[in-house]
Amino acid sequence: MRIAFAIIFIGMIIGLIVCSVIARRSKKEIGPAVAFFLASLVMPVTGNLIIIVSTEKTIAEIGCYIYYLGMDLMLFALGRFTMRYCGLKWKSAVIPGIIYSLLTIDVVQFLLNPFFRHAFDTEAVLVDGNDYYRLIPHLGQIYHRVLDYGLIAAILIVFIVMVIRTPKVSSEKYSVILIAFFLTMLWQTFYIFSRSPVDRSMIGFGVCGIVVFFLSLYYRPMRLLDRILADIMSEAPFGLFLFDLTKRCFWANATGLRLTDLKETEVEKASERLHSIFGDLEERTTTDWVIHRTVVVGDEIRYFQLDNHNTMNKKRTKVVGTFLRVIDKTEERRQMQQELYDATHDPLTGLYTREYLYIKIEEMMKAHPGIRFYTCFLDVNEFKIVNDIYGTEFGDYALKCVADWIRNDMTKHCVYGRLAGDTFGVCIPVDEFDRARVERDMDRFVVKDGEREHRLLLHLGVYEVTEKGLDVSVMFDRAHMAIAPIKNDYKTHIAFYDEARRRDVLWSRHITSELPGALAERQIRPYLQPIVDREGKIVGAEALVRWIHPVSGFLSPAKFIPIFEKNGMIAEVDRYMWRSACEILARWQKEGRDTFLSVNISPKDFYFMDVVSELQKLVKEYGIDPKLLRVEITETVMMTDAEKHQDVIARLQKSGFIVEMDDFGSGYSSLNLLKDMPVDVLKIDMMFLRQTKAGQRARIIVQNIIRLTDELGIVSLTEGVESEEQFRRLSEMGCCLYQGYYFSKPIPVEKFEQKLQSI
Ligand code: C2E
Ligand code: CA
Ligand code: CA
Repeated sequence: MRIAFAIIFIGMIIGLIVCSVIARRSKKEIGPAVAFFLASLVMPVTGNLIIIVSTEKTIAEIGCYIYYLGMDLMLFALGRFTMRYCGLKWKSAVIPGIIYSLLTIDVVQFLLNPFFRHAFDTEAVLVDGNDYYRLIPHLGQIYHRVLDYGLIAAILIVFIVMVIRTPKVSSEKYSVILIAFFLTMLWQTFYIFSRSPVDRSMIGFGVCGIVVFFLSLYYRPMRLLDRILADIMSEAPFGLFLFDLTKRCFWANATGLRLTDLKETEVEKASERLHSIFGDLEERTTTDWVIHRTVVVGDEIRYFQLDNHNTMNKKRTKVVGTFLRVIDKTEERRQMQQELYDATHDPLTGLYTREYLYIKIEEMMKAHPGIRFYTCFLDVNEFKIVNDIYGTEFGDYALKCVADWIRNDMTKHCVYGRLAGDTFGVCIPVDEFDRARVERDMDRFVVKDGEREHRLLLHLGVYEVTEKGLDVSVMFDRAHMAIAPIKNDYKTHIAFYDEARRRDVLWSRHITSELPGALAERQIRPYLQPIVDREGKIVGAEALVRWIHPVSGFLSPAKFIPIFEKNGMIAEVDRYMWRSACEILARWQKEGRDTFLSVNISPKDFYFMDVVSELQKLVKEYGIDPKLLRVEITETVMMTDAEKHQDVIARLQKSGFIVEMDDFGSGYSSLNLLKDMPVDVLKIDMMFLRQTKAGQRARIIVQNIIRLTDELGIVSLTEGVESEEQFRRLSEMGCCLYQGYYFSKPIPVEKFEQKLQSI
């Protein structure tokens, strides 16, 4: 028995030391307290070991001292461990102070025992023929026991409180220690009363050490974890189904059960139910997959995402089953669809937004390369006024009415949307566009809102998509451009874009931007067309503008004058031409010539400047005789605002200029004009000289005009004389001056000057 227990105790000592070292090295916070406790257990066990193996009284007593002092140390260590393990802290230093003092007294009284023998003595007993030393307790020993039991009882109470206080699932870590301590204590008590020489309860100490070691360093409350996880999974927002390797469902969470309409006890039927809801999933079970299914639930369409994993593993490698997750994506999907709708539709009319319309049109054209399409730009004329007069609420309503009209009228291959505030875009196959009906609808487009009624003036610009690969935005730009000419037209509602118009617009923009440079670089310059008298002698010339363009070459005025007349830039050109004419005249005057120059005045010049004072300044600046600068004002100018122009003519004449009425006869009331406009020269329009059926009548008219001018004292000048025959006839009629290709085309100044010198 002695040897057997000695071996057991030695084994325990080694075990405790090893565990203590491991605990010391552990990174857990509780590690040092555990290590200390385990190490402290070594002492009482060692003490007992010595008692067991000793055959001499002295050695046995040394064993006793080690044992008792070890018990004190162990209690001290156990106390510290308990405080840490249960997460307690001393509120004040009084109680630990008392405990440490009591333990110290115990240690001291044991150390005094060899001298006073007040604590214990030993006596030899014979057990199984062996000598053992048994303890005889005295007063000091009783103090020791009371203290030990008191402390152990206190520690047990702490553990009991912890077991009661903590939830059941996690109280395990306290209850196991409580039971181990309690049993060990009982065992010890039994030993004390049995007075057996071998303290078997030391084994209990070892067990307690191991229990503490395991629970505080390695134990994880798996049952607790399992339960928490199962709870979480049960309430998860997705359905979860677990299958074993025979593909039998053995567990489903609450959501899964609701989805399959099963009770917990019927979970085995889940496979069957899932099959009936989502169709065959069996074939896919070999690998991980994700599928999406649309299911009609009641009268509602719902979207599910199903994913299956083969990875329900145990210890990483061994597959123990599969699981299937069913996620209801309906809300998410609806939200996404709503967001997509919001992003692609105009909130007021519900039509596509511009960006989305462009995408849709591109798709449509790509899908039907064989169909010819129109892109139409619909504009509500002066919509701002509708808003202003009737308020934005009515304005919004009006726009909705337009949107409804578009929507209701559309055919299968149509795409339409709202481009911006009051403009809409439509893409429609050419064959499906019923122009007459659209025109009719637009002609009586009335918006009624209760009492109020307003007619909207709609215009539709149409561009036929002929160019491949054109940006949709460009198509609509072209359709928009088509509206410009009918913008203020109340009768015409539809206009088609034509390429020539686009070129015109581009050309206008182009040359308008280039004009300032062209004037500065003298790309623009006068050509002179001679004016001759009856003898054919050059007496003067008309200055006609030419643009020698570095890229486009020689440009006749027809290419740019009408454009500049439209945008007002003509004033720049004319001012420049007049100055050029003055320069030439000044030179001629110096050379002693009295050849005159006629310059053209555009009707628009009168809007942008005071023509008379402008010309006065010029002749003054160049010091020329105003008589030599003749001024051509067209007949049509004189017809509008006659009084004002009468005044202009009078002022010009007063300043010494000779005023010519240009293009006489091209208007309708020419003759009538003559009586009011006391011009100096009448330039008879070249159309009278054209060879027409009415040639005879024209001749009679020209003849009479010439006679009339004669009588009124006005000089007659005929333009567009192209043949000798015309010249001869006109001179017979008594015409004074002549201009035309028969004599010369307009030519550069130098050439004209050469002509002059050769006379
Ligand atoms: P316009 O003032 O009636 O000028 C006469 C036009 O008739 C010139 O055309 C001239 O080249 C052309 N012409 C002269 N003789 C004949 C002929 O025998 N047969 C034919 N078929 N045509 C003849 P151009 O130079 O092309 O000028 C056209 C118009 O441009 C001018 O008509 C005038 O209204 C305007 N224009 C030209 N230069 C200026 C300018 O400096 N300022 C302004 N405001 N207008 C100008
Ligand atoms: Ca002229
Ligand atoms: Ca003319």
